[in-house]
Amino acid sequence: MKLQNPRRAGVGALRMGLASAGFRAYQRPRMIRFSIFGIPVLVQPFFWITLALIGGALGANSPDAILRIFLFLLAGFISILVHELGHALTARKFGARSEIVLQAFGGYAAYSGVRLTRPQSFMVTAAGPAVQILLGLVLMQMIPRLPQMSPFGAYFLITLMWISIVWALLNLLPVLPLDGGRMLESILGPERIRITLWITVIVASLLAIVSWRATGSILLPIFMGMFAWQAWQALRQRP
Ligand SMILES: [Zn+2]
Repeated sequence: MKLQNPRRAGVGALRMGLASAGFRAYQRPRMIRFSIFGIPVLVQPFFWITLALIGGALGANSPDAILRIFLFLLAGFISILVHELGHALTARKFGARSEIVLQAFGGYAAYSGVRLTRPQSFMVTAAGPAVQILLGLVLMQMIPRLPQMSPFGAYFLITLMWISIVWALLNLLPVLPLDGGRMLESILGPERIRITLWITVIVASLLAIVSWRATGSILLPIFMGMFAWQAWQALRQRP
């Protein structure tokens, strides 16, 4: 298996820089490793740490709040795993060997062994956000119909629903290296990669400004700024 240079098709910010590090870490202890539907999964410690920060771990100052962080971690883990399984199982359907790595700020599915056509590549990329948003919509229909449950049970299901919807929608933005950017790349093809990169620069820059002004949060602007910068550098390196 070509672990040194895996084809990546997953969600996940920082995926580009950390992908090979993720696979080098594959042999190390302290990582959670398991298989699901025959797909090997590796969970790095930074997956939990960054997810806890997104879930508001810094402000957790009571036992209830800490329990909610754990429920947030469990919901995020399930939702992001479902997303990556969408990629990995679709790639396997096309004959590829797939693996999943959950890492800082998300994860990715790597596949090797076959060269996917552009339509296949599009389907592998689209399958991740598609199954995740499906999970969110099923929960949205299901939750109001459920019998009375504990506040923590309700918090878990509602968090699972919102993480699934928001994570999938964010990943559908037409910004490389997110899934939406990769789907656009599959549609436009390698000869129009400059158009894909320009769309990334423009959309990511606008989102960085708008999200910062609207929410005051710096996480999304940092990632969008980084994606815009990476695409700008890629444009400069091309004739
Ligand atoms: Zn994805």
